[in-house]
Amino acid sequence: MKCGYVALIGRPNVGKSTLLNNLLGRKVSIISDKPQTTRINILGIKTTPRGQIIFVDTPGIHRPLHKLNKRMMDFVEYTLETAELICLLIDATQSFGHGDAFVIDLLKKISTPKFLLINKIDLIKKESLLPLIDRYRELLEFKEIIPISALRGTNLPLLEEKIYEYLPESEKLYDDDSISVQSQKFLIAEIIREKILHHVRDELPYVTAVYVEHIDQESQASTLKTGELPQSSSPEKKITHIRATIFVEKENHRKIIIGRRGQMIKTIGMQARQELEFILGTKIFLELRVKVKEKWRDSPNLLDLIEQQ
Ligand code: GDP
Ligand code: MG
Repeated sequence: MKCGYVALIGRPNVGKSTLLNNLLGRKVSIISDKPQTTRINILGIKTTPRGQIIFVDTPGIHRPLHKLNKRMMDFVEYTLETAELICLLIDATQSFGHGDAFVIDLLKKISTPKFLLINKIDLIKKESLLPLIDRYRELLEFKEIIPISALRGTNLPLLEEKIYEYLPESEKLYDDDSISVQSQKFLIAEIIREKILHHVRDELPYVTAVYVEHIDQESQASTLKTGELPQSSSPEKKITHIRATIFVEKENHRKIIIGRRGQMIKTIGMQARQELEFILGTKIFLELRVKVKEKWRDSPNLLDLIEQQ
């Protein structure tokens, strides 16, 4: 048995979530065509007869601009140092930029073995691949350079094969059916945030944080009124109660999220609920509140809460 942690690293939009979702065969991370939807990392686990690969989906890496990003950077470095292997994902259709140079500099400081995964090869001509490989080979020592298409699944079995070569002999660390172990709260908060961004991104690009306060799973039988017959306790019959708070920085932001007659928050809640029901496989009762907290991004207590959820 082999088992270990693999960190996925790369600029926003290179396809980290797509790769993770395709490798795991089920949606656990969030896919979006808008950058930076993955603010907090989500773990995914692939259990096969050979062992277990534990993927860490790192948040988008950028220069530290304010407190939140600096703290995220520390967290990213910690993730990279403690992983067995780092997969640097790049987008074959994008030219090398500042963001890439920053990531390369970061990786030079870290001794963990690295793979270069050149993604979206379905969008480029074969001839343009070789210069790209040469360029990266000069920048950093990669144990493997693998061209892939995360979307189509090209070379993903090869990638899995190569990953196993770098994992230590170890017993499985998680249950066979674990897919997402980063606490469910992360995942839930990210899904809610994604729905908010989808609807109000133009008005409120980066001013929302979601904190999941409460998750409670109960079977429908326990909510039956007297006289009713209990139903079988199959997973579909379970209800998960979720209560979450959306933090915004200004009163007018709160009004935007709530919308006219509460229509916006209702839509956000409904879409989040539908996706959560699909992912968690239970019925969901979702309670959303919107709170104004000025400068939440500079509030260490709130950041701690959100990072620890
Ligand atoms: P992340 O920000 O790194 O997690 O990137 P996402 O996984 O959200 O992907 C960003 C966008 O690139 C989405 O629209 C994906 O559908 C698209 N994408 C990801 N991988 C591929 C690929 O291999 N080929 C193509 N054509 N598109 C891809
Ligand atoms: Mg993502």
